[in-house]
Amino acid sequence: MQRVKYSVKMFIPEKEFTMMQKQVIGEHFTPALFNEKVCRVWILQQLHPEGVTCPDCGAVVTSEKVLSTWENLGRVSCRSCSRYFTAASGTILQGAKLDIQTLYALALLLNFKVPIVRVAQTLKISYGTVSSWEIRLKLAGILPDSGA
Ligand SMILES: [Zn+2]
Repeated sequence: MQRVKYSVKMFIPEKEFTMMQKQVIGEHFTPALFNEKVCRVWILQQLHPEGVTCPDCGAVVTSEKVLSTWENLGRVSCRSCSRYFTAASGTILQGAKLDIQTLYALALLLNFKVPIVRVAQTLKISYGTVSSWEIRLKLAGILPDSGA
């Protein structure tokens, strides 16, 4: 399988950046463009970089069946302490009302430094929702902490 090589630019000139933003939030942009599973797995990897463990006792989950349920955001029980948890337990996803594709799109747009008001318009959600998710994504380390 041929692998595409991406070059990551650390510094993007202002002009190019604006053009990139325009391309990203073109009129056809919609979270439905993203594959739900890919978005979910990506977000879960960001939230659980150490792998899957019980949020209560720290026991490592190894069962393929349990891992599969967990990855689908289903409720699983810990073999050590019997407590129930999901992949969202104790993370920024707990109680989240945004669907995973919209959340992924939101993180992507904010990462491109698209202004909050434009992100809200593009995703058809409120300014307050985008703003509170920006804080949560920064806390979770998914977005860089400062705009510097
Ligand atoms: Zn446990």
